[in-house]
Amino acid sequence: MIVTKIIGATKDLLDQKRKEGKSIGFVPTMGALHPGHLSLIHRAKSENDFVVCSIFVNPIHFNNKEDLLKYPRTFDVDFKLLESEGCDLIFAPEVDEIYPENGEPVPFYDLNGLDKPMEGVFRPGHFQGVCVVVHKLFNIVNPDRAYFGEKDFQQLAIIRHMTETLKLKVNIVGCTIVRDEDGLAMSSRNMRLSKEEREIAPIIYKTLQQAKHKIEGLTEINFTPQLLKQWISDEISSHPKLKPEYVEIVDRITLQPVNDWIGSKDLIVCVAVYDGEVRLIDNIVLFS
Ligand code: AMP
Repeated sequence: MIVTKIIGATKDLLDQKRKEGKSIGFVPTMGALHPGHLSLIHRAKSENDFVVCSIFVNPIHFNNKEDLLKYPRTFDVDFKLLESEGCDLIFAPEVDEIYPENGEPVPFYDLNGLDKPMEGVFRPGHFQGVCVVVHKLFNIVNPDRAYFGEKDFQQLAIIRHMTETLKLKVNIVGCTIVRDEDGLAMSSRNMRLSKEEREIAPIIYKTLQQAKHKIEGLTEINFTPQLLKQWISDEISSHPKLKPEYVEIVDRITLQPVNDWIGSKDLIVCVAVYDGEVRLIDNIVLFS
């Protein structure tokens, strides 16, 4: 497995692979890898000749400095995990390689309102930062396919939108959420949970599953999306350490919140919940 840090050398190497007729799969990450990330690498390996994983903690999409500073960095372990998964290249640039101080203006991406609800309310500017870095990485790696997790459902929808509107040639592949045995969605942030916080974290997904069952067997038409959101929020916050930041029921394509069930088939419930100081996100598809 090769490790590069410089854009030029990375492009040259990948140009060579393309000349050899190899297809390129790409998995962008911020490191601190876990089986969720590795499932993306695994899928990329099965669908491409050459797999690139980037490890880059993107400073411009953190709107909370504390979160950026505390973000786990575990390169040596990540290296071993990627090697055992058969990854071919790690691109791990320094911040000034991606953001050189050359006065280059930061582009603005029109996201057609996809960035407004949910994460957009609580992390202003976050998705602009995501688009800036993912677009830069796409220009460097120029992959045939890029793999993103459905755990970050809003991010996946936004990347798809950006790719379509900019007519980029890459195929965006969404990958299912990998969970621990007790249902907690795997996340690099989970390693910051205390023992007690980790023990209660599965309540989040359990509540989403109960909500799905509740609504699928529904005969009571007065039980509106608003009431379901309130029920989820109350269930989660019945544990004093868990504080929901948002609970939304949105259309899976437009990400716009729905107010009634009529005509709504492609819906997803998305939540962000503080478990102590750690912010966790999760989602579940309704009516699948
Ligand atoms: P991150 O390093 O958190 O930026 O995540 C890199 C990629 O891995 C993103 O596309 C995430 O959606 C994806 N990912 C993170 N956690 C999981 C998970 N539990 N299951 C599937 N994909 C995940």
